Amino acid sequence: MGPVGHTLVSVGIGGTVWAATGASASVAAASVTGVLIDVDHVLDYYNWYWRKDKGRLYVLLHGWEYSAVSLVLVLALWYHPVLLAAVLGHIGHLIGDQIGNRPIHPLAYSVIYRISAGFDRPRLAGEVPETFSEAFNKIPLWSKIEPFVVRVASRLGITLR
Ligand SMILES: [Zn+2]
Repeated sequence: MGPVGHTLVSVGIGGTVWAATGASASVAAASVTGVLIDVDHVLDYYNWYWRKDKGRLYVLLHGWEYSAVSLVLVLALWYHPVLLAAVLGHIGHLIGDQIGNRPIHPLAYSVIYRISAGFDRPRLAGEVPETFSEAFNKIPLWSKIEPFVVRVASRLGITLR
């Protein structure tokens, strides 16, 4: 699932928790965990498109285990509606990725499984976008943003393809 879908799902989750509990910060909490966890792709994209090594898939913030442990902690020990919204945002993100990205292995979003598989990208995710440009084309207006990113990267001595 792309950033627009994750944003819609997260705002929906946060808004639902807000409506049910009165905690308006739930929208921000669900959005942070439901959208910004994709920042972990930076490490993979660095390896794939800068170091030209597509052998591993890390996505270190994507893990059903984080969701499960967090949900238990929030419900059993530290209940707060904003924390609940944060956990539900993370769960919503993983459901979106599990359905929308269709990983080659059904356990690809388990961090324990990825560790046991040695983060082996072909085994976990199959093919990945060939180029940097293709990897980011789910971002709205990417065609307008890409030239700027490529220019900045070039000034830093980074060739993105
Ligand atoms: Zn994701």
